[in-house]
Amino acid sequence: MRIELVTAPGTAGRLNEDWTAVSLPASGEGGVLVVLDGVTPPAGGDGGDGCVHGVPWFTARLGGALVELSGSRRDMTLGAILSEAIRRTADAHRDTCDLSHVRTPQATVVMVRWGTDAVEHLVLSDSTLLLESPDGAVRAVLDDRLDRIPREALRLVATADALRNAEGGFFTAAADPAVASRAVTGRTPAAEVRSALALTDGAARWVEMFREGGWADCLALVRKSGPQELVDRVRAAESADPDGAAFRRWKTSDDATVAYVEL
Ligand SMILES: [Zn+2]
Repeated sequence: MRIELVTAPGTAGRLNEDWTAVSLPASGEGGVLVVLDGVTPPAGGDGGDGCVHGVPWFTARLGGALVELSGSRRDMTLGAILSEAIRRTADAHRDTCDLSHVRTPQATVVMVRWGTDAVEHLVLSDSTLLLESPDGAVRAVLDDRLDRIPREALRLVATADALRNAEGGFFTAAADPAVASRAVTGRTPAAEVRSALALTDGAARWVEMFREGGWADCLALVRKSGPQELVDRVRAAESADPDGAAFRRWKTSDDATVAYVEL
């Protein structure tokens, strides 16, 4: 088994709001990979999110609960685990914070749990999961709700807020456990998965924004040269277009996480 994780802040010296972990229980029954991308409150809003804790506190709580439940409750589906982890996290600051605030701390989620029989996956919002079969075919698991919304609409803070965790908009793990039902989930026989690669959108830019290759190329690059190489290539593409003249984007560079598991 080979496991490699790399995470890098979008801007040196600024807090990286991605969160990632791999857990391998001692039983040898399998493991779990969790990648979260904490959603940064938009500039130009009122600046508030109703929470005294902040995004890093939120992702640490949520991610910790996801890892713990994935190992201790193998009887629960990943959807049920996400729901319970959101509830636990919400309970931890319900008394101090306004969880009804539209910008209450929130995150995108990728989970992969493998065992002797199957590989389960869950994707919520715009992080990416790639699953590779033994014959080399690569399947991208995407929750494309955010992509279906015109970019112009998202540029307006008020419009983006109205679409956040709302019907017809996009969904993230925030304070409502019911959002778990919106996640893209699936189960694949273990014999049909050779490797899994999870990317936050800051790393998926190599494919989705800079178009330097497709998903299969991306996985092949990480296998051959490691996750850091993918992040380095994204940063090089960003540096070559510092003002976003060739590739229009909100953030010149974004937090980037690459998590690779070869089963
Ligand atoms: Zn809080």
